[in-house]
Amino acid sequence: MKKIRTRFAPSPTGYMHIGNLRTALYCYLIAKHDDGDFILRIEDTDQNREVEGATQLIYDILEETGLEYDEGPDKPGDVGPYVQSQRLPIYKEYAEKLITLGGAHYCFCEKSEENEVDPCRNLTPEQVAEKLASNTPYVIRQTIPAGHIADFDDEIYGHIEVETDTLDDAVLLKSDGYPTYNFANVVDDHLMGINVVVRGNEYLSSTPKYNLIYDAYGWERPRYIHLPPVMKDEHHKLSKRNGDASFQDLRAQGYLTEAILNYIALLGWAPEGEEILSLEELKQQFTTNRISKAPAIFDIVKLQWMNGMYIRKMTVEEFCEVAKPYYDCITIDADLLEVSKALQPRVERLIDIPEMVDYISHPGEFDPQLYRHKRMKTTPENSLEALKLSLPHMEAWEDYTDDDGMMHMMMDLAKENGLKNGRIMWPIRVALSNKASTAGGAVEIAHMIGKEETIKRLKQAISDLEANL
Ligand SMILES: [Zn+2]
Repeated sequence: MKKIRTRFAPSPTGYMHIGNLRTALYCYLIAKHDDGDFILRIEDTDQNREVEGATQLIYDILEETGLEYDEGPDKPGDVGPYVQSQRLPIYKEYAEKLITLGGAHYCFCEKSEENEVDPCRNLTPEQVAEKLASNTPYVIRQTIPAGHIADFDDEIYGHIEVETDTLDDAVLLKSDGYPTYNFANVVDDHLMGINVVVRGNEYLSSTPKYNLIYDAYGWERPRYIHLPPVMKDEHHKLSKRNGDASFQDLRAQGYLTEAILNYIALLGWAPEGEEILSLEELKQQFTTNRISKAPAIFDIVKLQWMNGMYIRKMTVEEFCEVAKPYYDCITIDADLLEVSKALQPRVERLIDIPEMVDYISHPGEFDPQLYRHKRMKTTPENSLEALKLSLPHMEAWEDYTDDDGMMHMMMDLAKENGLKNGRIMWPIRVALSNKASTAGGAVEIAHMIGKEETIKRLKQAISDLEANL
């Protein structure tokens, strides 16, 4: 069997749409599952869309996600250049060749109506030569044979047939010498040895037209794998226009690269077992027969859950490292590893961290009702007693990093006074945070903020409660 070669061929738009990244991932997995080659080609012939720095962004995202390509603009192979705007002479040469093969023709007219037969098809070779000699501007159009059925088999969607009479003599090469997508993708895929074409299903209906070009040259057609669309909901495609998230947006919202990649792998493909899969595991398991043709719905709730799973899999040191940028709001000298320990079991998106840790630097507003807890059997009144009881013990306690020791000290205190543990711990937790809920209880918060700050807050809580009761 021939070595599989796939390509990811994005336009440099400055934006990595989730659907595009999924195409890149599937191209990569299909190639790598069988030790094939994964090629990056930049399709920049639509000059209007050129955005500064956009190509670099593509390199960066592929590197960050681990979708390492074997050949590309910055990784030259034997079939470059890998940037379409650098291949203009190639398209011209091949367009002219296609004319001699009967697959295309010069067009000098202003044909604009879709599906109207181009009158230039009927020009004699002499007429064409004359117009070319007099520098008449032209485009090169595909010559679609009349009365045929153009068909092919897609590996996901099955047998596709199109009557050639419904196909337009589309422009292949524009008057400025730039190719259209219709032409460039065929020429490049062939010359670059791409034998498995993976792309969105919006190209399904144009593929018979591309195949006519392959056939006219006598080139072997590639295998086709068209992917189902990624939808926002049942009726709307996920798109930048709808304000939907790009890869960069998701990263900025605190989703981990590995979680995003894992999640988008499942947008149109189903593993046989476990859904949490590393890139390496995906590579081993990915087979095209498990790609669905049903549209995939992008479910942010599931991504969030999956992100949480990835966060839980980290060591606390690793989590502390990725969470660090979100700890900027912590302005006191807090123990960040301890903060991480409390957060890691609870965080789903890193972007939620600042809100979860705001009390570390700034306790909330004093509210006596926060001390009222039915199950803990606490009230503002008995909380004041508990805090007064605890304060000297907390002052006497030396090692605030000894969680177990402090926990037992509080439990002993409760026991000596004939109280349930919650009667002591809940008031301390509230006193240290002034929050209804916090990641971490009394002991953890005391550890995070340290002795000095703990004592300060306990005293403040006692005086606030005294003033309000
Ligand atoms: Zn014409």
